[in-house]
Amino acid sequence: MKQSQFLELLRLTKISLSEYINWGEEEVFKMPFAAIAAKRADILKPETDIAAENCLAAKNIPPKELRQKENPAENLNQEKQLEDLKNKLNSCRECPLGAGRLNCVFGEGNPNADLMFIGEGPGFDEDHSGLPFIGKAGQLLTKIIEAMGFSRAEVYIANIVKCHPMKEPSQPESRGNDRPPSELEIETCKKYLDMQIDIVKPKAIAALGASALKGLFPKEEKTISQARGAWLKYRGVALMPTYHPAALLRNPELKKPVWQDMKAVIKFLQGIAK
Ligand code: SF4
Repeated sequence: MKQSQFLELLRLTKISLSEYINWGEEEVFKMPFAAIAAKRADILKPETDIAAENCLAAKNIPPKELRQKENPAENLNQEKQLEDLKNKLNSCRECPLGAGRLNCVFGEGNPNADLMFIGEGPGFDEDHSGLPFIGKAGQLLTKIIEAMGFSRAEVYIANIVKCHPMKEPSQPESRGNDRPPSELEIETCKKYLDMQIDIVKPKAIAALGASALKGLFPKEEKTISQARGAWLKYRGVALMPTYHPAALLRNPELKKPVWQDMKAVIKFLQGIAK
């Protein structure tokens, strides 16, 4: 490694270390921050994905190609099934949200992801772009994903409803017009999320926030504060409820419990990869 590369690696390691401290991590020296810094910089051997492999090795999760399902045709099929479903939902008006939305926000990511994040629903930025979690809360989710050692492209991100729930649906150009989805909207749209889960077949799901928790488990009486940190099961997949990134923007003290929950997810994925 050249001296300039080594210095760059040190600089990125320092940034990663600061981020872990910022997340309330008390055992930073057990975390794969150097490998994650290397992955971000991609400076060790740009012509291969060796930095990413280092990062996954640090978590004891096998490299991606070893995690691919045995039949490559199945992977292509997953991509095609998701594309077909997305095309179908682009013209969906089954629930009242279809009338006011600018774009159907289907979801994005690796069709064969081990880890899936499920949020509440699109907001202003997502409605305008058609992409999930790209506003301020989404940028924080990206940081969480990267602190876990993944890139956004390696996981799958979706919402419990695909269209923007607005207080005033005739004003999609207004910011601050968001509201949580209603029971009817969740009940109508949830079957499409179920289809996404069945196609991607993740090994673990992180459910973000109270609406995602209540939407997936209507009989759940616990609040998100009470339910977070304990594994549940949804459609046969291990599911970890935690706070929504938007809640962390309002209350940074919630970063620490979210990071604890995400560490449990990493540990779970490490366990089943062995
Ligand atoms: S929220 Fe779901 S069910 Fe409602 S219109 Fe959009 S895609 Fe269709």
